[in-house]
Formats: sequence, C-alpha cells, structure tokens
Amino acid sequence: MRVLIVEDEPDLQRVVWTCLQEEGYVVDAASDGEEGLYKAANWDYDVIVLDVMLPKLDGWQVLARLRKLKATPVLMLTARDTVHDRVKGLDAGADDYLVKPFQLAELLARLRALIRRAAGQSQPVIEIGDTHIDTVSRTVTRIGSLIPLTAMEYSLVELLALHRGKLVTRSMIYDKLYDEDDDTLSNLVDVHVSNIRRKLGHEFITTRRGQGYMIND
Ligand code: CA
Repeated sequence: MRVLIVEDEPDLQRVVWTCLQEEGYVVDAASDGEEGLYKAANWDYDVIVLDVMLPKLDGWQVLARLRKLKATPVLMLTARDTVHDRVKGLDAGADDYLVKPFQLAELLARLRALIRRAAGQSQPVIEIGDTHIDTVSRTVTRIGSLIPLTAMEYSLVELLALHRGKLVTRSMIYDKLYDEDDDTLSNLVDVHVSNIRRKLGHEFITTRRGQGYMIND
C-alpha cells in the first residue's frame, strides 16, 4: 500500500514516515501544498495524509483541487478541533481527520480503515474460504493456525485480498508495494507468489499470464 504524507514540519513528517514504513507501507512525502498536489495528482496512492497548515497551497486548497481529479482517500491533520473545521473538512471531501497532537496508533488505525473502506471492505478481517487475513495484526491464519509469511508476502496477500475477484496487474503490484529506487524487483513478484503458494496452496492465487494475479472470491 502506497501512502503520501503532505506535512511541512520535518520532525513530524519523519516520525510518520518511519512509523508507516515499519508497518510495511511504501511512503512518499511532500513538504508543501504544491508538491503534495503534484504527487497526489500524478501517482495513485491508497491514502493521503494531508496537513491543513502548509506553505504555498494550504491543505484545503490541495484537497479542493485534488477532488476535481480523483477520489483518493484523504485524512486531514488539523491543529484545532472546532466544529467549523470539521464541517469544512467533510464538505471539502476529506474522508477523515485527526487533531494534532495525535497518537501514531490512532493514525495507523484510521489509515487502515480508510484503505479498507476504499476497497469496499468494512471489516478488519478478510475471509477467503478458510483463510483469514487480519489487516490489524497483519497476520494470516488458516483454520486457526498462523501461516508464517514475510512482511512482503503478507503485503502481497493483503493487496490481492482487498481486490479479490479482480485482476491485480504487475504494474499495480510494483506501484503499491515497492519503492521507486528499488531496482531489484524484476523477478521478485514471481518469487513471492511462489512462496505464498507453497504456504497457502497453489490454487490460492491465480496467474493471468502476462497480465497479473488474482485471488478468486
Ligand atoms: Ca503544518
């Protein structure tokens, strides 16, 4: 899952970035509204964390312009919790908001919920037959037994599960799961898929040759 953080305070940007990376997200950051809008418009993020008080364009302006282009889920960071700000945020098309200072655990929980909602999945546990994918603990169990997956294998299973019944193309997998500066990715997806199949069964993931992969509903 790819996340954009638009935040001009370097310390806060760094803390959120590190925390999200540790949780297995691919993270991009922007330090002002113009850069944030540019990135948000040109890449497909699963969710955007958007500060309200920003140089060049403020968060409201970024959100208003972004909403003319796309519906990427946006969580606004506001400095004050006032009814006026909340109403303004929701009217402007924000999907959620968090008041500074906030706990990282709450930010993570809200981002997970936004990503699930965007995929039409309201529950934190995705059930595929007897396989349960817990998006909070990032674990996969089958008939109650924990299936040991690496962080990347889990991320790939979650991505396919959130889009189950639909083809997930190789380029989508690269976009969502790999950093741009990672140049070793050419064969890695196949390797991860074959490792997942070894653990969850060959039939768990279907290959569409030359196109991508899917998990059947
Ligand atoms: Ca700020």
